[in-house]
Amino acid sequence: MATTLISGGTVISAVGRREADVLIDGESITAILAPGQAAAFGIAADRTIDATGKYVVPGGVDVHTHMSLPFGGTEASDTFETGTIAAAWGGVTTIVDFAVQNTGTSVHEKLAEWHEKAADNCSIDYGFHQIIGGVDEDALKAMTYLVDNEGITSFKLFMAYPGILYSDDGQILRAMQNASESGALIMMHAENGIAIDVLVAQAIARGDTDPQFHSLTRPAELESEATHRAIQLAKVAGNVPLYIVHMSASGALEEVAAAQHAGLNVFAETCPQYLYLSLEDQLMQPGFEGAKWVCSTPLRTKHEHHQSDLWKGLRLNELAVVSTDHCPFCFKDQKELGLGDFSKIPNGIGGVEHRMELIYQGVVAGEISLERWVETCSTTPARMFGLDKKGVLEPGADADVLIWDPNGRTKIGINDKHHMNMDHSAYEGFEIDGKVDTVLSRGMVVVEDDTFKGRKGHGQFVKRGLSRYLH
Ligand SMILES: [Zn+2]
Repeated sequence: MATTLISGGTVISAVGRREADVLIDGESITAILAPGQAAAFGIAADRTIDATGKYVVPGGVDVHTHMSLPFGGTEASDTFETGTIAAAWGGVTTIVDFAVQNTGTSVHEKLAEWHEKAADNCSIDYGFHQIIGGVDEDALKAMTYLVDNEGITSFKLFMAYPGILYSDDGQILRAMQNASESGALIMMHAENGIAIDVLVAQAIARGDTDPQFHSLTRPAELESEATHRAIQLAKVAGNVPLYIVHMSASGALEEVAAAQHAGLNVFAETCPQYLYLSLEDQLMQPGFEGAKWVCSTPLRTKHEHHQSDLWKGLRLNELAVVSTDHCPFCFKDQKELGLGDFSKIPNGIGGVEHRMELIYQGVVAGEISLERWVETCSTTPARMFGLDKKGVLEPGADADVLIWDPNGRTKIGINDKHHMNMDHSAYEGFEIDGKVDTVLSRGMVVVEDDTFKGRKGHGQFVKRGLSRYLH
């Protein structure tokens, strides 16, 4: 098998940095060598990649994407093919997407459907979480089966979207009890959907139909209330590991921090949109423009301190992971479904390509360290979700590598760097210090010299183990 030596770079891990060379044999890393060791040992790799002046980090792991997700009468515009190409352009080498079961459908059949969408289409590796939108006897049985046999060890429940994906508290408790038995982790969309639906109906009846009312009818209190309730239910269900997705607000973060201080197995993620974008600057843009930034949980007001609190949460590990909740819809014909009624705008922002870039900006701005960038974007998501060969550069790990040029610059925008299948960018005009230089997926160069060199079908389904935080 072909060997590759990545030489001359600075290897950054979650716990430190050092000048080192990375030796790859086939699809795996075989050694991390001190500078000069390769020559001293007489190692002549088939190919050498010069990383002088660059950072060599584990490829990004994005544990929250929705390729081809059916939503509100349309479908997320990135397929597994286009979405994993965009991910690779952004230095991401593994995604974990969501197979969706809802009331009256079979978990096994829906999972098979998602396998079919992804198989032979991905250019980087992928796994699945299973959404359980209809908790019943069959679904509970299937949950255990998936953990034991299918490499699917995390289940997402919804306290939002009544009638579509919503579970009531009794259903949530039963699913949590089941996960507590099998060792699985519960992911929670924590917003009080019953109360939100009342506020939405009242806003529409008043004639408040613009995109900004998407956020105003989903107040932060209904995120913190649901977060609190999910935490208490998880405690009652035997302290099952609970992972709150796409956290957007200070109050919800306080609930998570309090639970962690009480010793509960509670974790949370946030996404770049909540760290950079706001109600006033994006959702309130004139006319229907704000529809581009309709996502749930919603963007929050900049007049409170959600963004600075979320950065602080990342520093303190109250927020363990940054994911994207990549769920792209085009403006034309898709977001436009909600013209005149914000509640019909498909919920989602495309971002799988830009997470490594945007969170690196947090390093440049002094919010987090380089090591914390690697930890929140690669190492912890891999550990949290049992991706045992991902998220680290060490012998035996998959050779998933991002070579990052700290002296480069990246301009994000529809006519600049943009490879997602969307007609706009949520981050149009953002200019980023640093640049994705080279990306390897299991030893194969997939991005190099501003060219995509990957191959559809190279990406394989990864069976995941249990969360390594607890087992
Ligand atoms: Zn999501």
